[in-house]
Amino acid sequence: MIQNIEEYKDVWVFAEQRQGKIMPVVIELLGEGKKLAKELGVNLCAILLGNNILDLAQELIEYGADKVYLANDEKLFNYTTDGYTTVITEAIKKYKPEIFLLGATHIGRDLGPRISSRLDTGLTADCTKLEIDPNDKKILQTRPAFGGNIMATIICPNTRPQMSTVRPGVMDKAIRNLQNIGLIEELTVNLSSNDIRTRVIKTVKNKKELVSLSDANIIVSGGLGVGSKEGFTLLENLAQKLDGVVGASRAAVDAGWIDHSHQVGQTGTTTKPNLYIACGISGAIQHIAGMQESDFIIAINKNSTAPIFNVADIGIVGDVHEILPLLTEQLNSVEDIKKLYKEF
Ligand code: FAD
Repeated sequence: MIQNIEEYKDVWVFAEQRQGKIMPVVIELLGEGKKLAKELGVNLCAILLGNNILDLAQELIEYGADKVYLANDEKLFNYTTDGYTTVITEAIKKYKPEIFLLGATHIGRDLGPRISSRLDTGLTADCTKLEIDPNDKKILQTRPAFGGNIMATIICPNTRPQMSTVRPGVMDKAIRNLQNIGLIEELTVNLSSNDIRTRVIKTVKNKKELVSLSDANIIVSGGLGVGSKEGFTLLENLAQKLDGVVGASRAAVDAGWIDHSHQVGQTGTTTKPNLYIACGISGAIQHIAGMQESDFIIAINKNSTAPIFNVADIGIVGDVHEILPLLTEQLNSVEDIKKLYKEF
């Protein structure tokens, strides 16, 4: 397919919603998308699919979308690969965005490749950084490669849109402004029931979803140094006291001490809490990739040369089994930690 890429304008964000709630990654994409759109001198648009979701379109405008393309249809109430792919592909063909961003959620990872394949364009999965090349205005899409040992920057030179899925928790969230104004354009949905090959019979909530690492303000995270499943109780106690959640390294997950939904890092969740307490974690590059953007990092490790100390604001050299009960006794809030930091 030969495209006139000059015809393609605007930055689009897939406004993933579930049960009438915008996913947090969408707010991050709007924050990042706004920066890209500003540099290119184009509009930031969101595409929103669902049923009876007009109020969400307004919310997207308040988070910075200049325009929302809204596909409102009862067949779009639940996400289906077929339905969403068809509607979004048709909208892209009609309105021709130059950049299309999706969250690297389960839905985004399913949908993105389908759309890019139908449009014969490229997709870079799991990006952690997006920039506009100052020379030719193409988007530079950076993601970890070769097991996280290098960062690869990928371009999509010949086809449009340039598509990326973006890791949740990496980009800064857009700030909501109730005064923002924007346009809502309704899309015509031409879907028959035969166009959708799957049917959602029942939605069963997974209890594991209760661990929301990407939204957590405080994470107490454990690695092999915690020593056992029982050792994680020490972390839970501290997390509970600080109103935080428990995270883990892959090694701790692989050891069967904690569920994968708690894993932080390249093949787990990318986190950006105010406070990250790493307990008995060595600081492998794949783990660091998921927590280095934390505002404040405390590391506890009995090896003073552990690489985790290179990214820590406070390093405590010692045994987690001794240090954690002491911290839990002494710390009641993040304020106590700030005080502790000032004393250093
Ligand atoms: P270790 O590296 O074994 O470190 C344990 C640390 O605990 C050591 O530093 C030790 O000094 C300290 N320690 C021991 N006993 C105590 C004690 N009593 N008190 C205090 N400290 C103690 N890893 C992730 O975490 N997340 C990922 O998403 C991820 N993805 C990966 C993807 C790929 C493709 C690959 C190849 C690897 C990935 N890994 C990931 C694995 C990663 O490379 C490391 O193997 C893993 O992070 C190590 O976990 P750890 O720090 O718990 O264990």
